[in-house]
Amino acid sequence: MDDLPIKYKCPACKQAVLNRRVGHCLYCSANLPLEFLFSNEKIARLDEEQRKRDELRKWTNPGQTVERSDAVGRFIEGAEVIGDIGELF
Ligand SMILES: [Zn+2]
Repeated sequence: MDDLPIKYKCPACKQAVLNRRVGHCLYCSANLPLEFLFSNEKIARLDEEQRKRDELRKWTNPGQTVERSDAVGRFIEGAEVIGDIGELF
């Protein structure tokens, strides 16, 4: 089984470009050619599609919480614990 063809590689370190929203290589921080990068319009469209998917998941799986809110929930729990410890002193 072949991996997906990697179209975009860092010109400096030849690693695959993982995030085309970021203007530099995540491995070596070299600047990437502008043609590698998503345009602002493309980024806005991707964000919009992601938002719609999140929305859809909420409606189709009302009992199932989205991972992101779980992470936020854990963070808040952690923050409360830290708050309790703070009150001890
Ligand atoms: Zn690189």
